[in-house]
Amino acid sequence: MMVSAVTVCVICVTAWSASKDRHDTSRRGKPYSVKSLNAAIEKLRPLALKLGKPKPGEWLYHHKEPGQTFKQYVASDPVVPTSTRKVIVVQPLGMFTKSQRRVVTEAAEFIGRYFNLSVRIEKDLPLSLIPSKARRRDPAWGVDQILTGYVLDDVLKPRLPKDAFAYIAFTASDLWPGKGWNFVFGQASLRGRVGVWSIHRFGDPSKDDKGFRLTLRRTLQTGTHELGHMLSIYHCTGYECNMCGSNSLPESDRRPLSLCPECMAKVCWATRTDPVERYRKLIAFTEKHALKKQAARYRRRLKALTEK
Ligand SMILES: [Zn+2]
Ligand SMILES: [Zn+2]
Repeated sequence: MMVSAVTVCVICVTAWSASKDRHDTSRRGKPYSVKSLNAAIEKLRPLALKLGKPKPGEWLYHHKEPGQTFKQYVASDPVVPTSTRKVIVVQPLGMFTKSQRRVVTEAAEFIGRYFNLSVRIEKDLPLSLIPSKARRRDPAWGVDQILTGYVLDDVLKPRLPKDAFAYIAFTASDLWPGKGWNFVFGQASLRGRVGVWSIHRFGDPSKDDKGFRLTLRRTLQTGTHELGHMLSIYHCTGYECNMCGSNSLPESDRRPLSLCPECMAKVCWATRTDPVERYRKLIAFTEKHALKKQAARYRRRLKALTEK
């Protein structure tokens, strides 16, 4: 069975910090206060598509997951950017083709808009950092893979930059999370601020414009999904959403590059972002890259938030 997009750990939702937002007076009246975001959720809810009953082969058919509302998220004391840890650092790992490199640059630009944070692409690290004990050849495809746990714990954690809210490796190698799994598109820690994702299964961006767009869209989808986990966001179980788990490329391709109202509110609360401004920035990017479906989706959401 093909599997993908796992998280390293699942933590219990605790309620002890539920009053956090109430005591944060700097949020009062701001578009990223809990009150404003709850109002935005209600405006956007009519546009959200509820997830149907999971079918065999789909992520939720095989993985029982608790889901997480915006309210539960705020109460869970999530990991969020701070005044000193506020940069998303992308760490290229191993070799890339020229067009894959272009995808990395564009992905960094999109990620900055999606999370309202600065993004820095770090100097490349070589794949020779991964020892043979953390590599294998996949028996089904004969593809060389690297172990995600090694990348997170042994490559990224010791190098976590001081200013990084999140430190995420990006590689052209296929990824494998360990025994019982075939591969993953990406993996991230819910609390450890490290993650990794791979372009390996996302097509050939050098083929033509259409090929580039397909690889770019898949790369953006997985990169932002993993970074969502790094804000302590669980998999979405309520709606068609970029935070849904995916068991295969077709399932992942069916998911939108946008968040459901609850998950959008989590990102905006965590990053102190005005949802209206965020949608404007995402529209500009997706229009520039002819990601038409995604641009139209963002425009509908912007309209729902701004019309009287
Ligand atoms: Zn995931
Ligand atoms: Zn969601």
